[in-house]
Amino acid sequence: MPDTKSCSDCHQLNCYHEDKMYPKFCLTEALDQARLEEIAEIYRGDSLDGRMARASAEVEGIYYGKLTRVEETLAFARRIGATRIGIATCIGLIEETRVVARFLQFGGMETFTVLCKVGALDKTEIGVADARKVRPGTRESCCNPIQQAELLNARHTDLNVIVGLCVGHDALFTRHSEAPVTTLIAKDRVLGHNPVAAIYTAQSYSKRLFDAERVAAL
Ligand code: SF4
Repeated sequence: MPDTKSCSDCHQLNCYHEDKMYPKFCLTEALDQARLEEIAEIYRGDSLDGRMARASAEVEGIYYGKLTRVEETLAFARRIGATRIGIATCIGLIEETRVVARFLQFGGMETFTVLCKVGALDKTEIGVADARKVRPGTRESCCNPIQQAELLNARHTDLNVIVGLCVGHDALFTRHSEAPVTTLIAKDRVLGHNPVAAIYTAQSYSKRLFDAERVAAL
């Protein structure tokens, strides 16, 4: 049976500063060195991948703990030479999206926003039972992340920003987006779009995360 231990089982994290020991199952130690060098070459190069890798590291290094993620998004976009920003937004965050768009425009970017409900397809038209709607018996459009991506692709956006797309819809959007995608807001309807709060409180208010019966029923 293959060793299934991975980085989440590691308490050395030696790949960060190389000031401890690598564990037996270490992924760094097992890497194909030739491939690692090829990837480093990509990061050093002038391709979009290389520019993105260096821009991210630079934003992290220069602004560590000083900029909010909203500001970091603009700093990153500038460093990869982006001028057109696509925003894939959730209807529930449209007011927040207006602020995001205004901020990015204020920073010199052109923005184009596509709402999740674009196309106005009723959920029943894609095979979702009426009883599974948030409000059964009403007309309720499904989210349409493929269309969101295609509309942004048609605008040739340089970078797409997710504002509060649902779990899964965000994955589908990312899968169909031609431009690189960054998430500004990860939707969490219970925790005010702050999903990490469930992890921080896993020993207390969020103990239910490890309630076997509850988890089995998800
Ligand atoms: S790569 Fe190795 S040292 Fe780094 S976290 Fe994973 S197992 Fe630990």
